[in-house]
Amino acid sequence: MREPTEISLKTAARRALLGRCPCCGQGKLMRGYLKQVENCSVCGESFGQIRADDAAPWLTIILVGHIFLPLAFLVNVDWMPTWAAMAMWAACFAALALAILPRAKALFIGILWQTRAPGYKPVELV
Ligand SMILES: [Zn+2]
Repeated sequence: MREPTEISLKTAARRALLGRCPCCGQGKLMRGYLKQVENCSVCGESFGQIRADDAAPWLTIILVGHIFLPLAFLVNVDWMPTWAAMAMWAACFAALALAILPRAKALFIGILWQTRAPGYKPVELV
């Protein structure tokens, strides 16, 4: 079993949210839209075994559906036809969800890595 990291949870979460390696803050954490790198290209820390599972979609739904969607009711779009307003809001929320989802996944990978939570499986145990 690995030793706990000296990187604080806040630092690891911030680095991961910015798409950087939570360990060194230099290398990239994601290699695709939702795929994390196997190992950091700078420090070699392993991230390939970390599984964020449903946490990222859950956070995305919470943010988009429960925070941003109600805020849309505060915006007056009475001057638009209803179909146009519905199409505009659908496009806005789809874009927002697509923007939040990979960042949420990176955030949870950083948190799982820092806390050595059950989603984190050291290479030697796999
Ligand atoms: Zn690194």
